[in-house]
Amino acid sequence: MITLESVSKQFGQQPVFSHVDLHLEQGEIIVIIGPSGTGKSTLLRCINFLERPEAGHITVGDLRADARKASRADILALRRRTAFVFQNYGLFANKTALENISEGMIVVDKLPKAQAHARAREILARIGLADKADAYPASLSGGQQQRVGIGRAMAANADVILFDEPTSSLDPQWVEEVLALMKQLAAEKQTMIVVTHEMQFARDVADRVVFMDEGQIVEQAPPEQLFTNPQDERTRRFLRKIL
Ligand code: ADP
Ligand code: MG
Repeated sequence: MITLESVSKQFGQQPVFSHVDLHLEQGEIIVIIGPSGTGKSTLLRCINFLERPEAGHITVGDLRADARKASRADILALRRRTAFVFQNYGLFANKTALENISEGMIVVDKLPKAQAHARAREILARIGLADKADAYPASLSGGQQQRVGIGRAMAANADVILFDEPTSSLDPQWVEEVLALMKQLAAEKQTMIVVTHEMQFARDVADRVVFMDEGQIVEQAPPEQLFTNPQDERTRRFLRKIL
């Protein structure tokens, strides 16, 4: 359902990764861990061409895009099959929670406004913010803002949701409510790729944990296996540092 084949990305002369392969089945939940500066964000951003890879193929659902040849239309089609949750929420400051969630449905999916707002209200109820429809981001807590960020991703009805360190900007007291919402999505078998340092979340929720170091996927395995019996010395060193 999601496949990266030999994807390579560099910034100027500086390679971030080369020939990365990754595959996810529908409903699978993958957590990517690894030291900072290793290319985790760039890899996520390449999946929907927020960064354009130099080479490789990316498949999401029924669409396979060649990094070198993908047209603007291919990229837009790929983006409609993916949704992104950013570390810093990425909300429109001048739009309410309801508008942040309904915006994509109106602009991208061309839903009539009334229908988009009705669907956004359903999502607000699911994310526990039914009473915050008219609130602007600045009046919401960090946890509430990130739940709106996730609500917006839910509204996109994407094949996969890409989370880039969704809890790392949060004050500690808001982390659990955001992880709880992500667990709820996981229980509904939403396909997702999550870059995070929350190892307990990885243990509880991931079907597979992928360890990246210096632009390489060093190893990947179910969490109990990767955490208790890592095969590569680099994985062992990283886990010793953080666990
Ligand atoms: P991670 O998310 O694992 O911390 P990143 O994907 O953010 O790593 O970064 C990987 C490497 O790419 C780093 O060396 C970073 O400095 C570099 N990098 C990331 N984004 C850019 C950019 N827009 N321009 C130039 N270099 C970048
Ligand atoms: Mg990052």
